[in-house]
Amino acid sequence: MSDNVHLGHRARKRFGQNFLNDPYIIDGIVSAINPLPGENLVEIGPGLGALTEPVAREIDKMSVVELDRDLAERLRHHPELSKKLTIYQGDAMKFDFASLSSPENPLRIFGNLPYNVSTPLMFHLFTFTGAVKDMHFMLQKEVVNRLAAGPNSKAYGRLTVMAQYYCKVVPVLEVPPEAFTPAPKVDSAVVRLIPHKELPHPATSLKWLERVCREGFNQRRKTVRNCFKALVEVETLELLGINPTARPESLSLGQFVALANWLDANHQQQQ
Ligand code: SAM
Repeated sequence: MSDNVHLGHRARKRFGQNFLNDPYIIDGIVSAINPLPGENLVEIGPGLGALTEPVAREIDKMSVVELDRDLAERLRHHPELSKKLTIYQGDAMKFDFASLSSPENPLRIFGNLPYNVSTPLMFHLFTFTGAVKDMHFMLQKEVVNRLAAGPNSKAYGRLTVMAQYYCKVVPVLEVPPEAFTPAPKVDSAVVRLIPHKELPHPATSLKWLERVCREGFNQRRKTVRNCFKALVEVETLELLGINPTARPESLSLGQFVALANWLDANHQQQQ
């Protein structure tokens, strides 16, 4: 049989379908999630149920968001799962996750994410962190490295700053290509994201924070002074505790936020 077919389903590349096939890895992920009765679990991209089945065994009900109509239909008829699942067939990137949450029961989101959309999907999920207890995601290892990076490394970028703005980032487990059918071309890893109860560095304007990150990381080789020349004086950078001759990629999250907050207080942002 073609190695693109798993449990009778032909994997669709356009939906980023790589199905987990390794019981040890699946067990490791479910242990990391540690689902408990009464919790509000939501899976993105349940696919053929590799993670859904063992998670649902631990709890009475959960929600899933699956884009592929055929897979959503399969889940509706799944002997074990159909009774426990609320199935939303649609695009997780457009899904209002807050609609599933309540103050008493914040969301625990997890998924082996489609790699072709994992970064924009995470930016979408960051807008719901107020409604989320934690998130566990399988991603390309390179993306997990970016989420967890510190300043002055190649992996440090806009995704790092925005992820760490909202969440504590904990890499959990590395996963080789053979654990999936079909096998992806890259290594994978699971990460745990725990939204901060209180933001350690609150920004007065997310637009400014996004803009300083975008401009800073698009011009990594420039000095901070040159990169933000049109927006801020050297003296102000110094007052904010930012070395004007440093490279933008050396700035900490706190420094990006300090710069964004100063710009918000002193400039009208033009869109
Ligand atoms: N959870 C399964 C597993 O681990 O074997 C499948 C993982 S597969 C990498 C990604 C899953 O996400 C597929 O089922 C795919 O159809 C689904 N998917 C792709 N894009 C999606 C989107 N935008 N919203 C929701 N689900 C999506």
